[in-house]
Amino acid sequence: MVKKVDAIVIGAGVIGCATAFELAKKGYKTLNVDKLPAAGFGSTSNSCAIVRAHYSTWDGVAMAYENFFYWKDWENYLGVKDELGFSRYMDVGTILLKTKGHDFRKVLRLYDEIGVLYEEWDLETLRERMPIYSHGSFYPPKRPEDDAFWEKPRDTLDGAVYTPESGYVNDPQLATHNLMRAAEAQGGEFLYNTEVVEIRRADGQVVGVTLNGGEQIDAPIVVNVAGPHSFVINRMADVEAGMNIKTRALRHEVHHVPSPEGFDFEQSGAHTSDGDTSIYFRPETGNTILVGSEDPECDPRIWVEDPDHFNRELTQAQWQAQVYRLALRIPDLRVPNRPRGLVDLYDVSDDWLPIYDKSDLRGFYMAIGTSGNQFKNAPGVGHLMAELIDACEGGQDHDRDPVQVKCQYTGLTLNAGFYSRLREINPESSFSVNG
Ligand SMILES: Cc1cc2nc3c(=O)[nH]c(=O)nc-3n(C[C@H](O)[C@H](O)[C@H](O)COP(=O)(O)OP(=O)(O)OC[C@H]3O[C@@H](n4cnc5c(N)ncnc54)[C@H](O)[C@@H]3O)c2cc1C
Repeated sequence: MVKKVDAIVIGAGVIGCATAFELAKKGYKTLNVDKLPAAGFGSTSNSCAIVRAHYSTWDGVAMAYENFFYWKDWENYLGVKDELGFSRYMDVGTILLKTKGHDFRKVLRLYDEIGVLYEEWDLETLRERMPIYSHGSFYPPKRPEDDAFWEKPRDTLDGAVYTPESGYVNDPQLATHNLMRAAEAQGGEFLYNTEVVEIRRADGQVVGVTLNGGEQIDAPIVVNVAGPHSFVINRMADVEAGMNIKTRALRHEVHHVPSPEGFDFEQSGAHTSDGDTSIYFRPETGNTILVGSEDPECDPRIWVEDPDHFNRELTQAQWQAQVYRLALRIPDLRVPNRPRGLVDLYDVSDDWLPIYDKSDLRGFYMAIGTSGNQFKNAPGVGHLMAELIDACEGGQDHDRDPVQVKCQYTGLTLNAGFYSRLREINPESSFSVNG
């Protein structure tokens, strides 16, 4: 039996579900297909789900700031009940340390242009607000194997930038389930435990997909939102040759460490971006600190050829690198012997900025290359993708005349052409998880 829908979305992660919700609201009959058993079980499930505004470009900051308001307005935005309840936005704020490791002056300029609220803190204020932080500057980031890692800092930080309108989402998988329920309420369907194995084409137009059981589903629109499998799907559709920017899967470890004795980081901590030691960290339940890497040059980058098979075990070497860096910033940290945390894949583009675009195959679109930093933007990306798909299906030549997307909360206008697959590598990018 051949089934027919208006749009097949490959993937039911946070961005796939948001795209389906926004397309369904426009009247498209959508079907998300995911090979895993439920919504948000792919890389979304291990997301740190940090919501922060510091990005290296105007477009990056504007998109992230817009999305902060979706999370604040979550239940209202979804407009449905979910029997599992709603994910919660945790309003902890972001401390961006002023160091050579971040171009904080550029960030402040962009905050001023866009209207992001911030406070500049001197070291005295940083001490009052976060008494457990050391103010030493350890730049450039090093690995613990390097003797210089253990040298006393010769310099201090320049202070910090605090943005109150940032935090994290407590349960990224539940947020994705919420989006799935919202899409279903608009008529969207979801098919799980089912793998797309072929993208069917005819005369330069996508016509549907084939599933692993052999079943075919027809649709004039197919959207690749396959996360770290994005390049696999693009190869199935044979669209990579028409892309200037491509994607690859990168292995990433996140570690969990207990808060230092006498300080409740879960209650009183903030998300902190420490470009000085090249880590980011935030509060986590159980009075724990969750710490990830900002991808310094001294760390190996583990590119994964087959996203179905990679080392899911934490490694002692990366645990020590990230947790010892955290101990430089929080000297009272107690570092356990046994690593705790998780491993997953980023879907990284050549310039660490996403690709939200059409392709050279008519009807085939992609929301990929999220480079470890687009959970926060999922609802706004869903909106952007629905606007882009609707405009292209309506005949707009997006490559020549890029779709402009009006933001629902901030009223800013985003140029969807920023995310083009045809762009040159964007030299403004941080070329790291910071985007
Ligand atoms: C460790 C980690 C930490 C992160 N921290 C943050 C953060 O703090 N803040 C932030 O904003 N972002 C963060 N991110 C990034 C963010 O989580 C991702 O950008 C986002 O979750 C991607 O969502 P997605 O829907 O595109 O992909 P996914 O959630 O990976 O979903 C893709 C889905 O496609 C399915 N699929 C793939 N191939 C097929 C196929 N052939 N057939 C059927 N289904 C298929 C998969 O099963 C999967 O469920 C982090 C990512 C990781 C890995």
